[in-house]
Amino acid sequence: MDKKIFVTQSSMPTYEEYIEIIKPLWDTRWLTNMGVYHDQLTENLKEYLKVPNISLVSNGHMALELAIQAMDLPKGSEVITTPFTFISTTHAIVRNGLQPVFCDINDKDFTIDVTKIEGLITENTSAIVPVHVYGNLCDVDAIQKIANKYNLKVIYDAAHCFGVEKNGIGVGNYGNASCFSFHATKVFNTIEGGAVTFTDQTIGEKLYNLKNFGIRSEEMVVSVGANAKLNEFQAAMGLCNLKHIEEEIAKRKNIVAYYRENLKNVNGISLVSSDSELKSNYAYFPILVNNGKRNLLYDTLRNNGIFSRKYFFPLTADQFCFNNRYCNSKIYTARNVSDRVLVLPLYADLQFDDVNRICNLIEEII
Ligand SMILES: *Cc1c(COP(=O)(O)O)cnc(C)c1O
Repeated sequence: MDKKIFVTQSSMPTYEEYIEIIKPLWDTRWLTNMGVYHDQLTENLKEYLKVPNISLVSNGHMALELAIQAMDLPKGSEVITTPFTFISTTHAIVRNGLQPVFCDINDKDFTIDVTKIEGLITENTSAIVPVHVYGNLCDVDAIQKIANKYNLKVIYDAAHCFGVEKNGIGVGNYGNASCFSFHATKVFNTIEGGAVTFTDQTIGEKLYNLKNFGIRSEEMVVSVGANAKLNEFQAAMGLCNLKHIEEEIAKRKNIVAYYRENLKNVNGISLVSSDSELKSNYAYFPILVNNGKRNLLYDTLRNNGIFSRKYFFPLTADQFCFNNRYCNSKIYTARNVSDRVLVLPLYADLQFDDVNRICNLIEEII
């Protein structure tokens, strides 16, 4: 059997590079609680993401959960979001005591269908939580217009979107907050980790309290908070990985171009077009499989040691844990895409030979 190819492989610095950076921690014994590396990474990420403010947290999910909490939305109010996402997005809404209202996605880039948002707004709607799926930017201008008109908060799930820019503007600049994930499987990782970017500094104060028990001084706890701090070993991994990020993304770009070249004439699948104005991060390579053959393709690739992912299937709205509690009708495009999509292996060190093997198999199977 040929070697196994997984859907992703975590980026890491060399062993020596990481050991070198963590060595001083044995002297300082400052392992967490906004240490030197935490603060350095904060500054470096502000610059790289081109954002005015950023708050680092323990993972992408806590970024979402705390960013939503920081908006002080009325308990039980409705939040418009999409079901074509990782379960974390929906969980973050529900765990805040809010009601997810599922809006359909568009069939171009699988982000929220902005023509369908207004029809879902009621007097109980308090926010919109859109997702920049696969690194594709939502229609941020249309969303902001609606938010202004109805006085809604906008919290973006930007977990797929590290480093993405449009016309030189970093994705983290839109809405009231944007939430990033630095999980091991993402384009940029701190092992586990995440961040919230925002423009209004009062959000920063709230986030700080929420991620550090509300502690402001030795004897003063100003509010009820959780613990979602990013520790020094995570921050050190981030500092190393950030040094190599351009090279990582460039490698991904070459692999995506090679996939596209190999697959462009294969009947029975569709490639997802890319927005030419976007500085992409090449986070994922999704294809749509026609004629009901998605599961066949997934299974056959798997039997050949190639692990693709049905990302995102099932839709979060249909997940067992929600037991049809939230309205999940009228999400036709999301259902259609979810039944056809397959994300192919993509990571910086994926070899062209491997891409050849994957593409040849796809052609055979389809
Ligand atoms: C990865 C991811 C998250 C959660 O991030 P973690 O760092 O794993 O907690 C949330 N939303 C989306 C779309 C993701 O891909």
